[in-house]
Amino acid sequence: MTSEHDLIVVGAGLSGLLAARHLKDSVENVLVLDKGRGVGGRLSRRRFDGGVFDHGAQYFTVSDARFRNVADELIAAGVVRVWSTGFEDAAGHFKDNGEPRYVGVDGMSAVARFLARGLQVKTQHRVVEITGRDDGWRITTSEGVRFLSRALLLTAPVPQSLELLMSGGVYLPTDSLQALQRIQYARCLALMVELDGKSRIPPPGGKWLSGEPIAWIADNNQKGISAGKTTAVTIHAGPQFSLKHWDSAEEVVRDRLLSVAEPFLPGAPVHSQLHRWKFSLPTTLHRDRFLLIEQPAPLVFAGDAFGGPKVEGAALSGLSAGTALSRYLSPH
Ligand SMILES: Cc1cc2nc3c(=O)[nH]c(=O)nc-3n(C[C@H](O)[C@H](O)[C@H](O)COP(=O)(O)OP(=O)(O)OC[C@H]3O[C@@H](n4cnc5c(N)ncnc54)[C@H](O)[C@@H]3O)c2cc1C
Repeated sequence: MTSEHDLIVVGAGLSGLLAARHLKDSVENVLVLDKGRGVGGRLSRRRFDGGVFDHGAQYFTVSDARFRNVADELIAAGVVRVWSTGFEDAAGHFKDNGEPRYVGVDGMSAVARFLARGLQVKTQHRVVEITGRDDGWRITTSEGVRFLSRALLLTAPVPQSLELLMSGGVYLPTDSLQALQRIQYARCLALMVELDGKSRIPPPGGKWLSGEPIAWIADNNQKGISAGKTTAVTIHAGPQFSLKHWDSAEEVVRDRLLSVAEPFLPGAPVHSQLHRWKFSLPTTLHRDRFLLIEQPAPLVFAGDAFGGPKVEGAALSGLSAGTALSRYLSPH
């Protein structure tokens, strides 16, 4: 059976969830599909053995009034709190610019879980093909489930969204296609290490190494999301190291990163896991907060590559895409 919708959003990351939330009161039948086991995309938390790790986005900042409203709601609901207004840099200086860095009280994915409440979301639905029709779009998942939708919002990293459209033979106007093909992303190898004992990462539990091979190191126990006897440490490799070692064996990456991080990790590593973020942060951005193609039916691209390469950018893109789509989908 094929279910019919006014809008399908591909991606339950921050941009997709905020767009869906913006439309849910004015558009009846909004469905969000995500291939992941849970919602959040790059707002992600992983648990293994005794440790809990934020292994994607580490914190977020707020400058725009529209995102301020979202952040205030999250704070009022007890979902996020301020972690710090700065961190130590590579030279050992504490860099405090007074700007709050917000974190999910229960890990970064808690933000997405809160925003998904009341929305129709289907996780573990990997979209594999999108086909254009005169009156909308046909979306097919890897399980062969089919959906029809009057309008479509794509929030996966842009190369992935383009692949879905190419699979279905969708033609995009040349200028839009070229603009979308210009968008690129850096990779990030994220190592999660469980340590027997405490780390020497300085308070409040994060350090900007801002370079290669390590860009960032964090102690999830000091951060307040991991409470086991072991210490849960997240290490983000820099973009050059990540690209160079993308296909390297996990042990090779782990040993290299652990040898550099050794001054901060006095205890013995008891367990580790590597996550390879192929699309970590966009390095080439689109000039507008979303890209809209009107024919044969509304198709919108959104995400951090449109709003800015961070949590706030993804949020602003999702909110703007939601506003644009409401003009096509709202009855009034
Ligand atoms: C390692 C790392 C560190 C970061 N650190 C920070 C930080 O400290 N501060 C900050 O502000 N930002 C940070 N970011 C960036 C931030 O996480 C992102 O900008 C933001 O979360 C992007 O949201 P999004 O909605 O645009 O995309 P995503 O979160 O990527 O959401 C896209 C969703 O689409 C889904 N999807 C993809 N393909 C399909 C398919 N075929 N079918 C169904 N679903 C699909 C994915 O599963 C995903 O859930 C970091 C990112 C990474 C990876």
